[in-house]
Amino acid sequence: MDFGFTPEQEALRREVRDFIAEHLTAEIVEELEGLTEGFGVSRSVGRGPLVSRLFDEIAKRGWLGISYPKEYGGQDGDRITQYIVEEEFARVGIAVGLAGSGAPAILAAGTEEQKRAFIPKLISGEYSFALGFTEPQAGADLASLQCRAVRDGDDYVINGQKMYTSAAHTATHVYLMARTDTAVPKHQGISIFLVPMDTPGLTVRPLWTIQNEPRAPLGTTYGAYRTNETFFDDVRVPKTTLLGKENEGWGVGSMGLNLDRVGAARYLISVRRDEDIVNWVKTNRFDGYSPADDPAIRDKIAELWIEAQVCRLMTMRSMSIVEHGGHFTYEGAAEKIWAPEHGVRTSEAITQMLGPYGQLLNGSPYAVEKGIFAHNLMGAFQSGINHGSVQVMRDQVARRGLGLPSARRAGRPEAGR
Ligand SMILES: Cc1cc2nc3c(=O)[nH]c(=O)nc-3n(C[C@H](O)[C@H](O)[C@H](O)COP(=O)(O)OP(=O)(O)OC[C@H]3O[C@@H](n4cnc5c(N)ncnc54)[C@H](O)[C@@H]3O)c2cc1C
Repeated sequence: MDFGFTPEQEALRREVRDFIAEHLTAEIVEELEGLTEGFGVSRSVGRGPLVSRLFDEIAKRGWLGISYPKEYGGQDGDRITQYIVEEEFARVGIAVGLAGSGAPAILAAGTEEQKRAFIPKLISGEYSFALGFTEPQAGADLASLQCRAVRDGDDYVINGQKMYTSAAHTATHVYLMARTDTAVPKHQGISIFLVPMDTPGLTVRPLWTIQNEPRAPLGTTYGAYRTNETFFDDVRVPKTTLLGKENEGWGVGSMGLNLDRVGAARYLISVRRDEDIVNWVKTNRFDGYSPADDPAIRDKIAELWIEAQVCRLMTMRSMSIVEHGGHFTYEGAAEKIWAPEHGVRTSEAITQMLGPYGQLLNGSPYAVEKGIFAHNLMGAFQSGINHGSVQVMRDQVARRGLGLPSARRAGRPEAGR
């Protein structure tokens, strides 16, 4: 087994680093902070003029949609190249990859027309999706969802409510899971629709999170300070918006979520602050005391670094499986456990190392680095819940990875996602 990168891949990494050093100006960082509503590495946010120009430069170098087919606006490149470019940009809070974009699921399950209509525009950033899965009564138990899509001639008419539709206020479309058959077992009557946000009858209402007051600075782990509730009142869409077959949306949705769980940007959400704290420890001194000399701090940082390497290797393993023509199943779930739980452990350790000042939030004159470490601590906990909670992910690893019986067979309620 060869864990090394080729000389060409190392050269590409240096090229991307040099590009970032040259192009990521303080003005761009400021624009990112103002625009992202704290989404950090999410790509489904609006772009200002400077960020748009930056993305034009990135596109010119062929660094967008690297592993996607040329016919859909990609570069016909390989996963590892994609991974290298994604990893370097994710370190500075910029998402150039397509994990979480909806593109992997459309490529896998879409019609030819859907692939041509969506993937090039998802790569260029012209389109972006909000994820419309969760409902007030359907979170971990997603298959209990009630939002209805009823066939009417060549259309579907959608009614219902979605919760936590993050980015619905900036997205062009919602990737919607709705019930199309109520007479069959709950997992079987579900379909996925690609619904334009400007369809009449669709309303978005803000839900402010714990990161809103005061607002989390850019780079905060899951620092989104706004998510949404989205209401569908007689929303009429053509049947061409259906992704995959009617009533087979559970499989399409799970496959898409699993693909979206893996990628450099995903694991770096939980890991990139580790590097900051190492730098902080090395460069700070207090009245003759250096945290870098403290044995407890040195031990902790070394331990966290090892954990971070595990996150990275898990991600690269999944990339390698796909690169060699395979499909990962439980591997995405395993990463979705390890990375957020590492993020929580890191955030806790960092605020302990920083002492009381490390707990001050953005806006306090005494906050360390705009309070980013304290905001990280608040954000890290929810990262173990959204996009499939760690409890549900453990069940998937047990079933799909280790071949244990399903919770239903063991007489317990089964969680979805
Ligand atoms: C900031 C944020 C952003 C989000 N963005 C989106 C989005 O863009 N789109 C979207 O569709 N959703 C989004 N979500 C929703 C997220 O996916 C749900 O919060 C998640 O699925 C859990 O659902 P719930 O909140 O209803 O909690 P519950 O389902 O009530 O679960 C609460 C806890 O109980 C555990 N639990 C529940 N059932 C079981 C079981 N059978 N076995 C073991 N443990 C169990 C869960 O793991 C969890 O820890 C977001 C959530 C947050 C917090």
